[in-house]
Amino acid sequence: MVLLDGKAISSQIRAELAEETAQRRAQGLKVPHLAAILVGNDGPSETYVSSKVKTCQEIGFESTLLRFDHSISEAALLAEIQKVNENPSIDGLIVQVPLPAHISVDKVMETISPAKDVDGFHPINVGKTVKNLPTFLPATPYGILMLLKRYEIETQGKHCVIIGRSQIVGTPMSILMARNEYPGNSTVTLTHSKTRDLDGICRQADILIAAIGRPGMVGPEMVKQGAVVIDVGINRIEDSSKKSGFRLVGDVDFDRVAPLCSYITPVPGGVGLMTIAGLMRNTLKAARKDFYP
Ligand code: NDP
Repeated sequence: MVLLDGKAISSQIRAELAEETAQRRAQGLKVPHLAAILVGNDGPSETYVSSKVKTCQEIGFESTLLRFDHSISEAALLAEIQKVNENPSIDGLIVQVPLPAHISVDKVMETISPAKDVDGFHPINVGKTVKNLPTFLPATPYGILMLLKRYEIETQGKHCVIIGRSQIVGTPMSILMARNEYPGNSTVTLTHSKTRDLDGICRQADILIAAIGRPGMVGPEMVKQGAVVIDVGINRIEDSSKKSGFRLVGDVDFDRVAPLCSYITPVPGGVGLMTIAGLMRNTLKAARKDFYP
């Protein structure tokens, strides 16, 4: 079994990005600038946003964190997004989800300029992804593709089973794994909570991607000998031995599943770090105007 080391690969990618950013600076070109909007005080969201801002600092990107109170109206938030859209110094914008219930995530995503949509959630960028046109890929699927590529994992003709059909992970991942390129060319099955015989379908997977949000749900009864297992889940479970009172676990029961796998991602240290790497690469692409000149 080989551990897909998101920590090592994401640090390689950060080093590449830092080098290109230093070159851009030396050539007098624009240094990538990421803005992040955080609404309210959700604990995990605070952690995600601060690690994104920290990564920007490490690789030499500029970053701006815009914080708003939980009570901000939808109209006021959309106006703030519009301001960022019109600010030429900012290349990429992310709005951390979840948002308070009175704010429509769809309206927020549609208000972000497609040219600055480095999370790849705008319908125009989603459409381009489906049509396999060059665009910002959603950060988590993009991170997973980079991981598969750097470990040179064969995907062509493989049966890829994805558990979870969210707009940010499962659904785009299914489209990307079915594309006629590498990584891709897999035969994809997208499963969800209404799927019948989930265990049986998962046991057919050469590549199994779990994006469910249920700690340890994927056990050895769902995994074929030799499968590649990608665990997207990030779940907090209580742990009194930790200072924070919790620890992070994935959707896969790692200890029991790992012995069956050819490759597996750990949690933490797997897909989470690759997601940030994907976001950073998208931000560089936004600054380079790769997709929206
Ligand atoms: P969502 O809650 O949006 O989607 C969960 C999906 O899992 C749904 O499609 C749901 O089905 C399906 N599901 C739930 N229970 C079952 C079940 N018993 N059997 C089969 N399918 C089931 O989650 P996200 O995609 O946003 O996130 C999933 C996990 O990934 C979370 O732990 C999240 O924290 C993590 N995550 C990690 C990221 C990273 O960077 N590593 C980035 C984003 C998320 P249905 O549609 O029928 O309800």
